[in-house]
Amino acid sequence: VWANCLRVIQATIGEQSFRTWFLPIVPVALQNNVLIIQVPSTYFYEFLEEHYVEELKRAIHQELGPEGRLEYSIVVDQGNSQNQPRTLNLPTTRKAAGPAPVATPAAALAAGPMSSSARNVAAAAAAPMAPATLRNPFEASKAVDRHYLHSQLNGSYTFENYIEGDCNRLSRSAGLAVANKPGTTSFNPLMIYGGVGLGKTHLVQAIGNHIKASNSDKFVLYVSAEKFTNQFIESLRANAVQDFANFYLLVDILILDDVQFLSGKDKTQEMFFHIFNHLHQAGKQIVMTSDRPPRDLVGLEDRLLSRFKWGLTADLQSPDFETRMAIIQNKMQQDGIDIPPQVVEYLAHSVNTNVRELEGVLISLVAQSSLNRREIDLEMAKQALRHIIEEVEAEVNIDFIQKTCAEYFSVPLDLLKAKTRKKEVVTARQVAMYFAKEHTTHSLKSIGHHFGGRDHSTVIHSVQTVSDLIDSDKAFRGQIVELRKKFAGK
Ligand code: ADP
Ligand code: MG
Repeated sequence: VWANCLRVIQATIGEQSFRTWFLPIVPVALQNNVLIIQVPSTYFYEFLEEHYVEELKRAIHQELGPEGRLEYSIVVDQGNSQNQPRTLNLPTTRKAAGPAPVATPAAALAAGPMSSSARNVAAAAAAPMAPATLRNPFEASKAVDRHYLHSQLNGSYTFENYIEGDCNRLSRSAGLAVANKPGTTSFNPLMIYGGVGLGKTHLVQAIGNHIKASNSDKFVLYVSAEKFTNQFIESLRANAVQDFANFYLLVDILILDDVQFLSGKDKTQEMFFHIFNHLHQAGKQIVMTSDRPPRDLVGLEDRLLSRFKWGLTADLQSPDFETRMAIIQNKMQQDGIDIPPQVVEYLAHSVNTNVRELEGVLISLVAQSSLNRREIDLEMAKQALRHIIEEVEAEVNIDFIQKTCAEYFSVPLDLLKAKTRKKEVVTARQVAMYFAKEHTTHSLKSIGHHFGGRDHSTVIHSVQTVSDLIDSDKAFRGQIVELRKKFAGK
């Protein structure tokens, strides 16, 4: 029957379109007057419904008579390594059920909502088929109030105020390309990585803002991986995982900030993997950031990491002197601040870690200047810098060390104080104890107490283990050096 339908359709549309949109369709089952066809993605379904309703209708009626109906089965998650293709059985009766915002249903083809028997046929015919874990995403339009669809973007992060330099050239231009043509470049997903305060969030927000300004019909969503995780956990608790998934399937451009946060959170990763596949297959744009290159994302599943390679990974480096100058000048202009050139130069010279810190110094300078009713001068700048360095040093207490080590090794902070013997956690815990001994005046007993009530011999053992490893393992030594910088101030 489907072959005959194809012949009818082929006669009426162009060869290219036919090849693109009809050859990939797999006929799945025919029961009474209902023909079930399988299409590769939701996007595919939408496109067919939007552009070829008439052709499909004519062909079906010619083959099956006026009672003939067509139903879609949509394959999502093709790349799922658990190799259970999931299907979404989309009734073509969206109009009867209430207007769907995205798809134009072929109401004429469908006499009523999909019967359960038809659904079973579809499931049986395309075996092995797991029960659909995601309901029709378009149904979410009923559950989700449109006013929730807020992009969560901060409009002040733009490309205009994102200063270009050698440190960010590739990332910036890739970002701009994605912003101009979301979902259609080969940069999908786009993964931006770089150290803290180097402009990841600014850049990906700029992408979102740019798209929002030029494609107002697109639903752009910015979300930190942390918020994503919390929302997911909350949905588990509230028994509303389906709503959670449905919401994310509505997104056209998904920006997930700080994916390293997903490390070790298997359930959340699985959900993200699912959403990722679905959106990617539907030609939606995905943008992510990470504080380290993907190969160093310990605790992220390989199947998820392998997805990142589908697109482009680009890094952000520390800005060089000229770029730092330009960033300060731009910031001054934006905020209407006036600072003598030699002070700007001094700041650009002295603060060479990251942009956030640079901005921090600037803000504190401005605050002091207005507090003391004094013009900003070199003396004041030096004073301010001293102040900031002291602050960094004062922050080196056990909490800070634990937090920094947990972050660095991508393990949840609370596990440092828990009983777990997982290797990554043990390493992070031992290193944190090592630095606590090195950088604070706490006794061994007190350090043990801060790590979930361990005794002083455990602390001694940890410090010893770390010292031994520093001697024997070059890569590990590198990590310690890197970490020590975070505690040493400047
Ligand atoms: P990250 O997300 O990498 O930690 P952010 O994007 O939050 O860093 O950047 C920190 C601060 O530095 C922000 O205020 C941001 O606007 C600013 N910034 C970073 N890079 C640039 C740049 N190239 N031009 C202008 N401002 C920048
Ligand atoms: Mg950030």
